[in-house]
Formats: sequence, C-alpha cells, structure tokens
Amino acid sequence: MLDDVVRVVVSERQIEARVAAMADEIAFFYADNQEGITIITILTGSLVFLADLIRRLPIRMRVGLVTVSSYAGKTTESCGALFESAILPDLCNRDVLIVDDILDTGGTLRLVRDRLQTGSPRSIRTAVMLRKKEKAPADLPVEFVGFDIEDEFVVGYGLDYDGLYRNLPYIGVLKSELYATESMT
Ligand code: 5GP
Ligand code: MG
Repeated sequence: MLDDVVRVVVSERQIEARVAAMADEIAFFYADNQEGITIITILTGSLVFLADLIRRLPIRMRVGLVTVSSYAGKTTESCGALFESAILPDLCNRDVLIVDDILDTGGTLRLVRDRLQTGSPRSIRTAVMLRKKEKAPADLPVEFVGFDIEDEFVVGYGLDYDGLYRNLPYIGVLKSELYATESMT
C-alpha cells in the first residue's frame, strides 16, 4: 500500500503538531462556552481527524454525525454533494462546530451548514484539516484550517480513493496509474 503513494504532502509529524495547535485555537475560541459545544462531523473522511482532534480538546462537547457523499467510487471529480444521513443531537441554541476533512469546492460544507441551520443553533463555525485554497469559495467562512494544499487529489488520514487508503497516517498523492482513466469513463 505504501508503494502506491508517490509523494507525501503532509507528514505524520506535521499532522500531529498542527492538530494539537488547532485544538488549542478551538479551545481558546470557545473558552467562555460553559454548556459545551456540539461537534458535527462529516463522515467518512473526517473520522481520523475527528478522533485526534477531540482527544486534544479539553472542553465539554457532544458529537453528531452526518454522511455526505461527493466522490463516488473510482473518481477524483466531485459530482456535487448529496446528503445521505444524519445522527444529530439537539442543535437549538448550541454552538456548533462542523469538522470536515477537506474543503474543495465547498459544496459539502454549504449543504451541511444549510441543513444544520434548520436546527436553530446559536452559532456555526467550521474546522477543516485541509483546504484547496485556489478552489475554496471566498464566501464560505472556515474559521479553523489545518493546511492549505495545492489543487490535487490526496489520500490518507481518513481520505480515500475508491474506499481505500483511509488508514495511511499521512496525507499523500497516489501514483497516477492507479486512478481510473476518468476521461474515458
Ligand atoms: P467539496 O464538496 O468541498 O467539493 O468536497 C469536499 C469533499 O470531497 C470532502 O469532504 C472529501 O470527502 C472530498 N474530497 C475533496 N477533495 C478531495 C481529495 O483531494 N481527496 C479525497 N480523497 N477526497 C476529497
Ligand atoms: Mg468529506
């Protein structure tokens, strides 16, 4: 599996240090919140980031899950975000923090934000591990960002290609011959 990665974009050590720093930023930001925040994470890609982040956050929290799909199977092109399911705690008057793996076109976050708004939270903020800065829309607020990366398809640390590579402890780029020839399908 390691042979499939042609280049490491963010190393395990870089991730560890940045997640710790992000947790400090988030804990500081919510320092006055006494009743606890509500983290809503977007599965499946965010589960590794979520697990690392929340164990570094010494604040009261509840965790809810939503499932959204945008890349189906062997493709690296987003086909638009589709809302699939949600396991949500009560959001009314809550400070909500959306946790996602990567901000690309922003379609996923927009969809989730709009859906969560219907629960009348007090606030919605967003934390993403990665952001493709060139593509991320300027009108979508993201308060906490792990790393800005180039516009290329990455895997690892929760992110998959065709369901694989989520367990890589770093973020990297796959050999190009592994990708299905999208232009021909
Ligand atoms: P968006 O809706 O912002 O275009 O895409 C966000 C979602 O698409 C992410 O939550 C992630 O699941 C997926 N995605 C975007 N870029 C990448 C990437 O480079 N690699 C992988 N594996 N998934 C990505
Ligand atoms: Mg995702």
